[in-house]
Amino acid sequence: MKKTRKIIHIDEEKCTGCGLCIPNCPEGALQVIDGKARLISDLFCDGLGACVGTCPEGALTIEERPAEPYDERKVMENIVRAGANTIRAHLQHLKEHGAQKFYEEALAYLKEHNIPTPDEKPALACGCPGTQVRRLTPKGNPTPDTTRPESQLTTWPIQLTLVPVHAPYFNNAHLLLAADCTGFTSTAFHRDFLAGKVLLIACPKLDDAQFYLEKLTNIFQENNILSVTCLHMEVPCCYGLVQIARQALAASGKNIPFKEITLSIDGNIKEEK
Ligand code: SF4
Ligand code: SF4
Repeated sequence: MKKTRKIIHIDEEKCTGCGLCIPNCPEGALQVIDGKARLISDLFCDGLGACVGTCPEGALTIEERPAEPYDERKVMENIVRAGANTIRAHLQHLKEHGAQKFYEEALAYLKEHNIPTPDEKPALACGCPGTQVRRLTPKGNPTPDTTRPESQLTTWPIQLTLVPVHAPYFNNAHLLLAADCTGFTSTAFHRDFLAGKVLLIACPKLDDAQFYLEKLTNIFQENNILSVTCLHMEVPCCYGLVQIARQALAASGKNIPFKEITLSIDGNIKEEK
Protein backbone atom coordinates (compact mmCIF):
# COMPACT_ATOMS: atom_id res chain seq x y z
CA MET A 1 0.00 0.00 0.00
CA LYS A 2 1.27 3.48 -0.84
CA LYS A 3 2.28 5.79 2.01
CA THR A 4 3.60 9.34 1.86
CA ARG A 5 7.35 9.19 2.41
CA LYS A 6 10.67 10.67 1.28
CA ILE A 7 11.79 9.51 -2.15
CA ILE A 8 14.06 10.72 -4.95
CA HIS A 9 12.71 13.17 -7.51
CA ILE A 10 14.43 13.48 -10.89
CA ASP A 11 13.93 16.74 -12.76
CA GLU A 12 13.84 15.56 -16.38
CA GLU A 13 14.34 19.08 -17.71
CA LYS A 14 17.66 19.37 -15.88
CA CYS A 15 18.90 15.77 -16.31
CA THR A 16 21.46 15.41 -19.10
CA GLY A 17 21.73 11.64 -18.76
CA CYS A 18 25.42 11.81 -17.82
CA GLY A 19 25.03 8.81 -15.50
CA LEU A 20 27.12 10.20 -12.63
CA CYS A 21 24.36 9.45 -10.16
CA ILE A 22 24.05 5.75 -11.07
CA PRO A 23 27.07 4.40 -9.13
CA ASN A 24 26.26 6.77 -6.29
CA CYS A 25 22.96 5.07 -5.50
CA PRO A 26 23.87 2.24 -3.10
CA GLU A 27 20.47 0.62 -3.71
CA GLY A 28 20.90 0.36 -7.48
CA ALA A 29 17.63 2.29 -7.82
CA LEU A 30 18.68 4.54 -10.72
CA GLN A 31 19.33 3.77 -14.36
CA VAL A 32 19.79 5.94 -17.43
CA ILE A 33 16.98 5.00 -19.82
CA ASP A 34 16.35 6.88 -23.07
CA GLY A 35 18.90 9.51 -22.12
CA LYS A 36 17.46 10.36 -18.69
CA ALA A 37 18.05 9.07 -15.17
CA ARG A 38 15.03 7.07 -13.99
CA LEU A 39 14.02 5.55 -10.69
CA ILE A 40 13.47 1.94 -11.70
CA SER A 41 11.05 1.27 -8.84
CA ASP A 42 9.80 3.13 -5.77
CA LEU A 43 10.57 -0.07 -3.83
CA PHE A 44 14.30 0.50 -4.34
CA CYS A 45 14.63 4.10 -3.12
CA ASP A 46 15.24 4.47 0.62
CA GLY A 47 14.87 8.28 0.44
CA LEU A 48 18.17 8.86 2.26
CA GLY A 49 19.49 10.90 -0.68
CA ALA A 50 22.99 9.43 -1.14
CA CYS A 51 22.83 10.39 -4.85
CA VAL A 52 21.51 13.94 -4.44
CA GLY A 53 24.79 15.85 -4.26
CA THR A 54 26.38 13.83 -7.05
CA CYS A 55 24.29 15.39 -9.82
CA PRO A 56 26.14 18.36 -11.35
CA GLU A 57 22.87 19.66 -12.83
CA GLY A 58 20.92 19.76 -9.57
CA ALA A 59 18.39 17.38 -11.10
CA LEU A 60 18.08 15.23 -7.99
CA THR A 61 16.09 16.24 -4.93
CA ILE A 62 14.22 14.43 -2.20
CA GLU A 63 10.46 14.92 -2.26
CA GLU A 64 7.62 13.59 -0.16
CA ARG A 65 4.93 11.77 -2.11
CA PRO A 66 2.75 8.68 -1.90
CA ALA A 67 4.99 5.72 -2.82
CA GLU A 68 5.30 2.01 -2.26
CA PRO A 69 7.35 1.39 0.89
CA TYR A 70 11.07 0.79 0.44
CA ASP A 71 11.68 -2.96 0.25
CA GLU A 72 15.10 -4.10 1.47
CA ARG A 73 14.60 -7.64 0.16
CA LYS A 74 13.79 -6.43 -3.36
CA VAL A 75 16.89 -4.22 -3.22
CA MET A 76 19.03 -7.14 -2.14
CA GLU A 77 17.65 -9.30 -4.98
CA ASN A 78 18.70 -6.50 -7.32
CA ILE A 79 22.18 -5.84 -6.00
CA VAL A 80 23.52 -9.31 -5.13
CA ARG A 81 23.82 -9.87 -8.89
CA ALA A 82 26.35 -7.04 -9.01
CA GLY A 83 28.75 -8.80 -6.64
CA ALA A 84 30.53 -8.34 -3.32
CA ASN A 85 31.67 -4.73 -3.81
CA THR A 86 28.13 -3.53 -4.46
CA ILE A 87 26.77 -5.50 -1.49
CA ARG A 88 29.52 -4.04 0.69
CA ALA A 89 28.77 -0.47 -0.42
CA HIS A 90 25.07 -1.00 0.23
CA LEU A 91 25.63 -2.39 3.75
CA GLN A 92 28.01 0.45 4.55
CA HIS A 93 25.48 3.02 3.30
CA LEU A 94 22.71 1.58 5.50
CA LYS A 95 25.05 1.60 8.48
CA GLU A 96 26.24 5.17 7.93
CA HIS A 97 22.65 6.40 7.79
CA GLY A 98 21.64 4.50 10.93
CA ALA A 99 19.16 2.37 8.94
CA GLN A 100 19.55 -0.51 11.39
CA LYS A 101 16.30 -2.30 10.48
CA PHE A 102 17.16 -2.42 6.76
CA TYR A 103 20.76 -3.37 7.60
CA GLU A 104 19.54 -6.38 9.60
CA GLU A 105 17.12 -7.34 6.83
CA ALA A 106 20.00 -7.21 4.33
CA LEU A 107 22.16 -9.47 6.52
CA ALA A 108 19.25 -11.88 6.97
CA TYR A 109 18.75 -12.00 3.19
CA LEU A 110 22.44 -12.84 2.65
CA LYS A 111 22.29 -15.57 5.29
CA GLU A 112 19.13 -17.14 3.85
CA HIS A 113 20.70 -17.24 0.40
CA ASN A 114 24.09 -18.52 1.60
CA ILE A 115 25.85 -15.40 0.29
CA PRO A 116 28.90 -14.48 2.37
CA THR A 117 28.72 -11.05 4.05
CA PRO A 118 31.55 -9.00 2.52
CA ASP A 119 34.27 -7.71 4.79
CA GLU A 120 33.22 -4.15 5.75
CA LYS A 121 36.49 -2.29 5.43
CA PRO A 122 36.31 -0.76 1.96
CA ALA A 123 38.38 2.18 0.79
CA LEU A 124 35.26 3.87 -0.57
CA ALA A 125 32.50 4.17 1.98
CA CYS A 126 29.16 4.65 0.18
CA GLY A 127 31.03 4.28 -3.14
CA CYS A 128 31.42 8.04 -3.01
CA PRO A 129 34.64 9.84 -4.08
CA GLY A 130 34.08 12.26 -1.22
CA THR A 131 34.94 9.56 1.29
CA GLN A 132 37.98 8.25 -0.58
CA VAL A 133 40.87 7.98 1.84
CA ARG A 134 44.02 9.77 0.71
CA ARG A 135 47.17 11.25 2.18
CA LEU A 136 48.16 14.85 1.36
CA THR A 137 51.67 16.27 1.36
CA PRO A 138 52.16 19.41 3.52
CA LYS A 139 53.40 22.39 1.46
CA GLY A 140 56.07 23.17 4.07
CA ASN A 141 56.61 23.28 7.80
CA PRO A 142 54.41 25.40 10.09
CA THR A 143 56.12 28.75 10.72
CA PRO A 144 55.90 29.45 14.48
CA ASP A 145 57.43 32.92 14.26
CA THR A 146 54.72 34.52 12.09
CA THR A 147 52.00 36.69 13.64
CA ARG A 148 48.81 34.83 14.35
CA PRO A 149 46.26 36.11 11.81
CA GLU A 150 43.33 38.08 13.25
CA SER A 151 39.98 36.29 13.39
CA GLN A 152 37.40 37.64 10.94
CA LEU A 153 34.52 35.87 12.70
CA THR A 154 31.93 38.39 13.84
CA THR A 155 28.89 36.26 14.70
CA TRP A 156 27.89 33.22 16.75
CA PRO A 157 26.45 30.60 16.47
CA ILE A 158 27.72 29.63 13.04
CA GLN A 159 26.11 26.20 12.55
CA LEU A 160 23.05 26.51 10.29
CA THR A 161 20.97 24.28 12.59
CA LEU A 162 21.65 26.48 15.60
CA VAL A 163 21.42 29.98 14.18
CA PRO A 164 18.07 31.78 14.79
CA VAL A 165 16.21 32.84 11.62
CA HIS A 166 15.82 36.38 13.01
CA ALA A 167 19.37 36.85 14.30
CA PRO A 168 19.94 40.64 14.13
CA TYR A 169 23.21 40.26 12.24
CA PHE A 170 21.39 38.90 9.19
CA ASN A 171 20.06 42.31 8.23
CA ASN A 172 22.15 43.88 5.46
CA ALA A 173 24.51 40.91 5.67
CA HIS A 174 26.77 39.35 3.09
CA LEU A 175 26.41 35.63 3.88
CA LEU A 176 29.13 33.03 3.59
CA LEU A 177 27.55 29.57 3.47
CA ALA A 178 30.53 27.25 3.91
CA ALA A 179 30.63 23.46 3.83
CA ASP A 180 32.10 22.12 7.07
CA CYS A 181 35.27 20.76 5.48
CA THR A 182 36.26 24.06 3.83
CA GLY A 183 37.30 25.62 7.14
CA PHE A 184 39.92 22.94 7.59
CA THR A 185 41.26 22.69 4.06
CA SER A 186 41.86 26.39 3.43
CA THR A 187 44.76 27.82 5.42
CA ALA A 188 43.50 31.33 4.72
CA PHE A 189 39.79 30.79 5.33
CA HIS A 190 39.36 33.94 7.48
CA ARG A 191 41.30 36.23 5.17
CA ASP A 192 40.16 34.94 1.78
CA PHE A 193 36.53 34.02 2.43
CA LEU A 194 35.20 35.14 5.80
CA ALA A 195 36.29 38.79 6.04
CA GLY A 196 33.23 41.07 5.90
CA LYS A 197 30.72 38.22 5.86
CA VAL A 198 28.34 36.46 8.24
CA LEU A 199 29.29 32.79 8.46
CA LEU A 200 26.96 29.79 8.29
CA ILE A 201 28.38 26.27 8.17
CA ALA A 202 26.67 23.05 7.11
CA CYS A 203 27.41 19.64 5.65
CA PRO A 204 25.14 18.67 2.77
CA LYS A 205 26.13 15.01 2.97
CA LEU A 206 25.75 14.20 6.64
CA ASP A 207 23.16 16.68 7.85
CA ASP A 208 19.42 16.98 7.15
CA ALA A 209 19.28 18.64 3.72
CA GLN A 210 15.52 19.19 3.82
CA PHE A 211 15.81 20.98 7.15
CA TYR A 212 18.58 23.19 5.75
CA LEU A 213 16.53 24.01 2.69
CA GLU A 214 13.62 25.19 4.82
CA LYS A 215 15.85 27.07 7.26
CA LEU A 216 17.75 28.89 4.53
CA THR A 217 14.53 29.74 2.72
CA ASN A 218 13.25 31.35 5.93
CA ILE A 219 16.50 33.22 6.49
CA PHE A 220 16.40 34.61 2.94
CA GLN A 221 12.73 35.53 3.21
CA GLU A 222 12.83 37.13 6.65
CA ASN A 223 15.99 39.22 6.35
CA ASN A 224 17.59 41.70 4.01
CA ILE A 225 20.49 39.58 2.78
CA LEU A 226 22.79 41.48 0.40
CA SER A 227 24.67 38.53 -1.11
CA VAL A 228 25.28 34.81 -0.66
CA THR A 229 28.62 33.12 -1.25
CA CYS A 230 28.54 29.33 -1.20
CA LEU A 231 31.95 27.78 -0.49
CA HIS A 232 32.18 24.03 -0.91
CA MET A 233 34.63 21.23 -1.53
CA GLU A 234 35.38 19.75 -4.95
CA VAL A 235 34.03 16.30 -4.00
CA PRO A 236 30.65 15.52 -5.63
CA CYS A 237 28.71 15.20 -2.36
CA CYS A 238 29.62 18.77 -1.42
CA TYR A 239 27.94 20.28 -4.50
CA GLY A 240 24.73 19.44 -2.63
CA LEU A 241 25.26 22.63 -0.64
CA VAL A 242 24.95 24.70 -3.82
CA GLN A 243 21.72 22.92 -4.72
CA ILE A 244 20.30 23.58 -1.25
CA ALA A 245 21.29 27.26 -1.41
CA ARG A 246 19.94 27.76 -4.95
CA GLN A 247 16.67 26.00 -4.16
CA ALA A 248 16.27 28.10 -1.01
CA LEU A 249 16.88 31.26 -3.01
CA ALA A 250 14.29 30.23 -5.59
CA ALA A 251 11.78 29.28 -2.87
CA SER A 252 12.33 32.58 -1.05
CA GLY A 253 11.36 34.57 -4.12
CA LYS A 254 14.22 36.98 -3.42
CA ASN A 255 16.71 38.07 -6.01
CA ILE A 256 19.96 37.91 -4.02
CA PRO A 257 23.34 37.94 -5.80
CA PHE A 258 24.83 34.45 -5.56
CA LYS A 259 28.43 33.31 -5.92
CA GLU A 260 29.82 29.77 -5.84
CA ILE A 261 33.42 28.92 -4.94
CA THR A 262 34.77 25.39 -5.24
CA LEU A 263 37.76 24.50 -3.07
CA SER A 264 40.16 21.70 -3.97
CA ILE A 265 41.20 19.22 -1.31
CA ASP A 266 44.65 20.87 -1.16
CA GLY A 267 42.94 24.12 -0.14
CA ASN A 268 43.12 26.10 -3.41
CA ILE A 269 40.27 27.75 -5.29
CA LYS A 270 39.35 25.40 -8.11
CA GLU A 271 36.48 27.37 -9.59
CA GLU A 272 34.67 30.61 -8.89
CA LYS A 273 31.41 31.58 -10.56
S1 SF4 B 1 23.85 12.86 -12.40
FE1 SF4 B 1 22.11 14.29 -12.73
S2 SF4 B 1 22.26 14.83 -14.91
FE2 SF4 B 1 23.53 13.01 -14.63
S3 SF4 B 1 22.11 11.28 -15.08
FE3 SF4 B 1 22.02 11.59 -12.86
S4 SF4 B 1 20.26 12.96 -12.58
FE4 SF4 B 1 20.83 13.09 -14.76
S1 SF4 C 1 31.22 19.28 4.07
FE1 SF4 C 1 31.22 18.64 1.95
S2 SF4 C 1 33.13 17.46 1.71
FE2 SF4 C 1 32.74 17.66 3.88
S3 SF4 C 1 31.67 15.75 4.38
FE3 SF4 C 1 30.12 17.33 4.03
S4 SF4 C 1 29.60 17.08 1.86
FE4 SF4 C 1 31.50 15.98 2.17
